Amino acid sequence: MDYLPLFHNLKGRRIVVVGGGEIALRKVRLVQEASALITIIAKDYCPDLLEMEAKDKADGCSGLELITASYEHHHLLQYPDTVMVIAATNDRGLNRLVSECAQAANMLSNVVDDPEFSTVIFPSIVDRSPIQVAISSGGDAPVLVRLLRTRFESLLPAGMAKLGSLAGSFRERVKNKFANGADRKAFWEEVFYGPIAEQAYANNLEEAERLLADKLESTDEFKTGEVYLVGGGPGDPDLLTFKALRLMQQADIVLYDRLVSKEVLNLVRRDATRIYVGKTAGDHPVTQDNINQKLVDYALEGNRVVRLKGGDPFIFGRGGEEIETLAEHGIPFQVVPGITAASGCASYAGIPLTHREHAQSVRFIAGHLRSGKMNLNWPELVQPNQTLVFYMGLNGMETICQQLKEHGLDSTTPTALIEKGTSDRQQVFVGDLDTLPGIVRSAGAKAPTLIIVGTVVSLHYKLAWFNNSDNKLEGVINKSNEV
Ligand code: SAH
Repeated sequence: MDYLPLFHNLKGRRIVVVGGGEIALRKVRLVQEASALITIIAKDYCPDLLEMEAKDKADGCSGLELITASYEHHHLLQYPDTVMVIAATNDRGLNRLVSECAQAANMLSNVVDDPEFSTVIFPSIVDRSPIQVAISSGGDAPVLVRLLRTRFESLLPAGMAKLGSLAGSFRERVKNKFANGADRKAFWEEVFYGPIAEQAYANNLEEAERLLADKLESTDEFKTGEVYLVGGGPGDPDLLTFKALRLMQQADIVLYDRLVSKEVLNLVRRDATRIYVGKTAGDHPVTQDNINQKLVDYALEGNRVVRLKGGDPFIFGRGGEEIETLAEHGIPFQVVPGITAASGCASYAGIPLTHREHAQSVRFIAGHLRSGKMNLNWPELVQPNQTLVFYMGLNGMETICQQLKEHGLDSTTPTALIEKGTSDRQQVFVGDLDTLPGIVRSAGAKAPTLIIVGTVVSLHYKLAWFNNSDNKLEGVINKSNEV
C-alpha cells in the first residue's frame, strides 16, 4: 500500500494555502467545507477568493485570512499551529520549496498535481456526509478514478446522507439497548436493508425516524413488511432504474407478470421466493383480487415484497388498484416507475414519438378487443400531427387500422408493429394502415407487440440502430414495403 487513507478532522484546525488563483480556490473550497481555519499567502487573488474573504468577514466568521505577500519561510513559522500546507501556485519550484518548509516543520504537505513532493494527496470524493467515499490511484490513473467516482455517485442513493445522519442520531440509544456487538450489528443490518432505509431514501424522514424508534422499542420479533411496486421496463435489463435494481436485490418475495423478461427476473435476489401471477390473453390464472390480497398477506407477515411489472406500473399496469388495497390496509408501499413499452420500443426502433416536423402530441391507447369490439373515441385519435401508440393491439390490429381509415386517416399513414421491443428478439414491421396487418400476419408476430401510427414511423429507416443488421426478416419486409 503506497498511501494509508485516513479521514482528517479539520474543524478549527489551521491550513495554510500558498497561491491565490483558480487551483488554490478549489482546494480552499474543499477545506472550507471541512470547517478548517484557512490562511492564504499569495501576491494576487482571484475575484472568487476575495469574495469568499469578504463574505467570511461579513458573517463574522474569521475562518479565512488572506495575506498579500510573496511566500517566505517565516510565514509558516508564524503559524506553528498549522496542520497542513497546500502549495497551489503555478510555479513548480515555489511549490516544492513550500513543501520542503512544511516538511521541515513536521506539517503535512500537499503540492497540487505533484504527488512526489507531497506527504498527503487529496482523493476523489463522493460526499453523502456523514457517509463519504474517497478514491485514489496515488496519482497513477486520475481518469480511471474519475470513472470510478461516477459509478459510486450513481450507486449511492442521494438519500444516503439522510440515512447516515439518522443512524448517527440513534447510535447511543442502540448501543445502550444492545450490549452485545453481534445483536447491534443484526439490528443495524435490518435498518439499512429494509423499509426504514427506503423511507429515508424517499425523503420521508419523519416516517423513517418513527419506524426506527418503533423498532428499537419493540420487544418482539415483529417486523413491518413493505411492498414495492416496481416497473421492470420493456425487456432489456439495462433499462431498469437503480432503485428498481436495489429493491429487487432486497426482496424476500417477488410477484411477477408474464411481461417481465427472463433477464430482468434473473436480477432478483437469489434466495427470494418468486411467484408468477401473470395473465395470458383469455386465461387468468390469478385474479386481480387474489393478487391484491397476496400482497397484503405477505407484507403483514413482515416480508419485503416486490411486485414486479413489465414497463411502468402506472401505465396499463393496474398498479393503482394494487396500491389502493395496500393503502386500505395501512401497509407501507412505494412505486418505482419503469420505462414504458412505448418509450422503450420507440427508442429501440428508431421512431421518435414526437418530432417538430411530424407530431406535437402522442397518445397511449389500450387497443384490446372486448367481445370483439373496441370502444375508442376514434374522431379524437385521427387528429393531425399526432402519434398513436396502441398497447395490447395485436388481436385487434385489423380493427384499429380499419377504424382509423374510416374516421379519416390516410390509408398510406406509416404504421409499425414492434414485437418484443428492446429484447434481442425484437422485430420491427413497417407498412401503412393498408399493408401492415397482412405483413404482420404472414410473419406470424407474437405478443407482446406495440403498434405505432403516424408519420414519425417513416423516420425508422434513417434512425434504426438496434439489432438492425441482424434482423434479416425485418430487412426484407422493410424493403418491400417502404413508405
Ligand atoms: N405497464 C406496461 C404495459 C402493460 S400492458 C408498460 O408500461 O409497458 C401490456 C402491453 O404492453 C402489451 O400487450 C404490449 O402492447 C405492450 N408491451 C409491453 N412490453 C412490450 C415489449 N417488450 N414489446 C412490445 N410491446 C410491449
